[in-house]
Amino acid sequence: MSSDDLHFLIIPLMCPGHLIPMVEMARLLSHHSVTTTIVITPRNVHRYGAILHRAIASGLPLKILELPFPASEHGLPEGCESVDDLPTFNLSKNFFDACATLQKPLEHLLAANEVRPRPGCIISDKHLPWTADVAKRFGIPWVVFDGMSCFTQLATHNLCGSKVHEEVEDDSDPFILPGLPDDISMTKSQLPGLFNPGSGAKGKEMKSVREKIRATELGAYGTLINSFEEMETRYIHEFKKLKQGKVWCIGPFSNSNKSDLDRAQRGTEDTIITNHDCTKWLDSQPDRSVIYACLGSLTRLTPPQFIELALGLEDSQSPFILVVKGGTRTQEIDKWLDVNGFESRVKGRGFLIRGWASQVLILSHRAVGAFLTHCGWNSTIEGVCAGVPMITWPQFAEQFFNERLVVQVLGVGVGVGAQRVMHLGEEDEAQMQVKRVDVCRIVKMVMDDGEEIRKKAEYFKEMAKKAMEEGGSSQVNLTMFIEDIRQHTNKGVVG
Ligand code: UDP
Repeated sequence: MSSDDLHFLIIPLMCPGHLIPMVEMARLLSHHSVTTTIVITPRNVHRYGAILHRAIASGLPLKILELPFPASEHGLPEGCESVDDLPTFNLSKNFFDACATLQKPLEHLLAANEVRPRPGCIISDKHLPWTADVAKRFGIPWVVFDGMSCFTQLATHNLCGSKVHEEVEDDSDPFILPGLPDDISMTKSQLPGLFNPGSGAKGKEMKSVREKIRATELGAYGTLINSFEEMETRYIHEFKKLKQGKVWCIGPFSNSNKSDLDRAQRGTEDTIITNHDCTKWLDSQPDRSVIYACLGSLTRLTPPQFIELALGLEDSQSPFILVVKGGTRTQEIDKWLDVNGFESRVKGRGFLIRGWASQVLILSHRAVGAFLTHCGWNSTIEGVCAGVPMITWPQFAEQFFNERLVVQVLGVGVGVGAQRVMHLGEEDEAQMQVKRVDVCRIVKMVMDDGEEIRKKAEYFKEMAKKAMEEGGSSQVNLTMFIEDIRQHTNKGVVG
């Protein structure tokens, strides 16, 4: 079977941090003459369609398989088809349950031979364990994509095996993560939900979901990673050993966007207006002077915590972009911004984006001098690609692992001082973690004395670029992955 006959079915979790990289991965695969079909729901076709349709129109063998999403049947608002659309993260379990109902219609299409050519591989998000059942039922290899680094994969594997986190007396007692190439210290309260589910009822409810995901993931044929060999070399090496080599680092995906339009429209159907204003504003700022502060697509700071961030940026005297995502707290935050006079005080020096920011486009602007990030894996690797120092403020999931990678292993960032994960949906019970003085101090430190960090950041930017070029490590890995599946498929056909 040649690459031309190969067909990969891609099933993303519908959440920007998962869908964005999987759309980019689908496009990458189709560039290698592999027919690629991405399974998504109507609202997401709308949201991610501009990029997909442009790729299809350019002649790439990319297809969209649209399945209706039963939101209201699962207690979700009509049209809520993405985790960041949830009115409250307490509905996460409903969302995962609704996702699982896509199994039947997909199996029906596969059984009726309506997904053609017959897929040689299903690449799906690890958070959709039912996709492993689909693959098994149709005898298709199941490759997992979980949108995380090899550092996280290795740390997770070693914690699952050693359970050292269960031996600590206090959740804030530091311990060394076992079996990593570097001595990395963490506390239990900084670990992802699998090891640190939180005290809330919803955390307990998600425990079984997480355990099922973990157990299923272990049976995958292989793992695709949005990372590159030159960045976390030793971690990739160790993780590959664990997985008998079936790990392919094929990123950073964000570097595969060749036009500003593709960069601007990642994750949204509609950024053109805000984006134009933001670019114009950035054009008026000196080189490497602006702090870009964005805590991803899901983080919703409490108003008091948001205020500390905003005031810290103001105190720093640096120009800044602050992305405001208040969710249910939007009104309260807007009221403070208005009553406090914040916006008029920082006029000209601070640019506020309410809603979606064209992050990759912003980060690539010459005026951006540092990235204040929550260390979601996509943001982390996008920061690496931009070659800007990072100010790290991890919030939830595996983000403290990513912070350790950025600060301790790569040396391209400085932590703002967050001490524990803030479980999604439990923000109101969380204590204030970071004060305005912390934000101001770290911003000043990075902007005034961050030359060493900046040099390292520029080095990794160059490495990231090379990895995705012809003959670069990620390009080679992608070819090897396709070849592996092709051989596996041929064996299946012959045998
Ligand atoms: N993102 C963006 N604009 C925003 C917020 C997020 O483009 O206003 C993108 C960001 O570039 C990244 C993804 O959304 O690609 C967020 O993924 P990440 O893993 O960083 O964090 P999460 O949102 O999952 O916490």
